[in-house]
Amino acid sequence: MSVAELKTLERDYAMPTYVRNPVQFVRGSGARLWDADGNEYLDFLAGISVLNVGHCHPRVVEAVREQVGRLSHVSNLYYTEPAMKLSAALSESSLGGKVFLCNSGAEANEAAIKLARRARPGGNIVVLEGAFHGRTYGALSATPQETKQAPFAPLVPGFVVVPKDPGALFDAVEPGTAAVLLEPIQGETGIHVLSDELLVAAREACDRTGAALIFDEIQTGMGRTGTLWAYEQTEVVPDAITSAKALGGGLPIGALITGQRLADALHPGDHGSTFAGGPVVASAALVALELCSDQELLARVRVAGARLAAGLASLPYVAAVRGRGLMLAIDIDQDPGHRLDAAELARRALLEQRLVVNATGPATIRLEPPLIVSDDELDEAVARLVALAP
Ligand code: PLP
Repeated sequence: MSVAELKTLERDYAMPTYVRNPVQFVRGSGARLWDADGNEYLDFLAGISVLNVGHCHPRVVEAVREQVGRLSHVSNLYYTEPAMKLSAALSESSLGGKVFLCNSGAEANEAAIKLARRARPGGNIVVLEGAFHGRTYGALSATPQETKQAPFAPLVPGFVVVPKDPGALFDAVEPGTAAVLLEPIQGETGIHVLSDELLVAAREACDRTGAALIFDEIQTGMGRTGTLWAYEQTEVVPDAITSAKALGGGLPIGALITGQRLADALHPGDHGSTFAGGPVVASAALVALELCSDQELLARVRVAGARLAAGLASLPYVAAVRGRGLMLAIDIDQDPGHRLDAAELARRALLEQRLVVNATGPATIRLEPPLIVSDDELDEAVARLVALAP
């Protein structure tokens, strides 16, 4: 089908919740995508940090093929090896407690919110300005963005929004507070790395009151920043983390992972999901987690990130480069002489340069290539962005 035909189907049958670009991707491999006309693209978005191991990694494909042909689903009323092995691997990779598997990032945060409230009944959840935690009601209530929240009021009560200021955060955490929920690097709102002072204030406030410190590592995790989890590069160890996106190697899965203190806060019957931790996605995730835990790959992410950041800093229209590892953003110089709109730049990158990036705001472009990206691909992406200079 042509893009024009797909657009007609979209117009008549798909709810208009996405603003899609006029490109139909039909194949992916590594850091590359191909459209229906056979054109090749460099993918520097990776499905928004989903394809950390690259498109169609042969080991992920093999694990999925093998599992789907043997057993695709049973209820969580029964055991399967992939779900239990994945729970063990996730726990051992991070906080050493217990794991709740689910199907997406928003669901992982829902589980985290329920866990925190179960441990501290009725307690508030403190969240930060500029946060994004997902689109379901609990996760949306933790996402203080007027345009996303306002049409869906009333939201879930008990969320307290604070500025990204250590003193304000510390003061907002009271004796009955259930949790502080934050992204160590805010992704959807433009790749803003939270300061260690802020994270330390959150840790101290939670230690003082017994609130749970929960890091949303849905975008930052799975090696994206050069360590398996972003908290490893901070001075702080959270009580729980949430993961999704790259966890499934391209398939939909999410997870809530706790340390020992919260490991048994949820009780039988408290939470559940039909598809959660199904054998196919769990098999894919076991492979993705193993690949993203590789120390050589993680060291490579740090080197590749520095190379890409340097290349981006040299672009004639860039005012700032932000981020860590291969989780990067550029702010476009808003000098009136060469004012560029980020959405337009991302669109031109896609259509003219065959480079997939995305705009997180009017002046910010986000770049999150697969972690297996080569030096040649990094340099090629920068060259394609240079070609878009006014
Ligand atoms: N949390 C963070 C930090 C995210 O970046 C996202 C998605 O962009 C989510 C939560 C929601 O994940 P999902 O779209 O899988 O529900």
